[in-house]
Amino acid sequence: MALKFLGRGSGFADEHTSAYFSAENKEMVIIDCPVSTFQKLKHIDLSDYEKFYVLITHTHGDHIGGLGLFVQYAFFVLHKPVIVVAPSTAVAEDIATVFAIEGNEPSWCELVNVANVEEKAWFGDCVLTEHSPQLANKCFGYHLTVDGTNVVYTGDTSTIVPFLPYLVDGSILYVDTSVYYGMIHLKLEDALDDFLALNRRGVKVYLMHLDDVAAAEKIVADYPDIEVVTLA
Ligand SMILES: [Zn+2]
Ligand SMILES: [Zn+2]
Repeated sequence: MALKFLGRGSGFADEHTSAYFSAENKEMVIIDCPVSTFQKLKHIDLSDYEKFYVLITHTHGDHIGGLGLFVQYAFFVLHKPVIVVAPSTAVAEDIATVFAIEGNEPSWCELVNVANVEEKAWFGDCVLTEHSPQLANKCFGYHLTVDGTNVVYTGDTSTIVPFLPYLVDGSILYVDTSVYYGMIHLKLEDALDDFLALNRRGVKVYLMHLDDVAAAEKIVADYPDIEVVTLA
């Protein structure tokens, strides 16, 4: 499945959507850091990793609620460096503000934007998308290469359009999908035809950030190339 998921729920779920993968040079790349991800990371054996990258999609609480805590944990307990990667300078400034409010010293982690990771083999692009009007121009997905697989991770999104150019044959798409609540998220019944068209182009589709996992599983049960993400 390329990415390992620590949560797959939407905003009011117990476990918020977040994933990670291992990269070369003993680096761990984590996508978003809600509180539930921070709590799970404490119980994962991280001794093999020497450096952590946290890619941020946007600054809603279900995506960065545990970021400051993880930075503190890595600094004071693990004694290992964390590089927080913001998709734009504006998002980096917002994260810096959150860190200041939470009492995180700037020296406890490195806060950079994507220009600083462009040379990484796993990094492809950040992809601006549409999600919440309050965070207009500050919501992104990521195009990555994980274990040789072309991966697109939408983050929270109400549209699939900005991601289409990256979805070549053999890609995996991890996509924000709601069963009941559309609006600022893709609604499964509206997006299903688009997902099936991607399947025909050789793209495997995994649903994440779900409001109802069981209902989503039922809807996609007959489509072998559309699945709900499973937890690591
Ligand atoms: Zn969210
Ligand atoms: Zn959001």
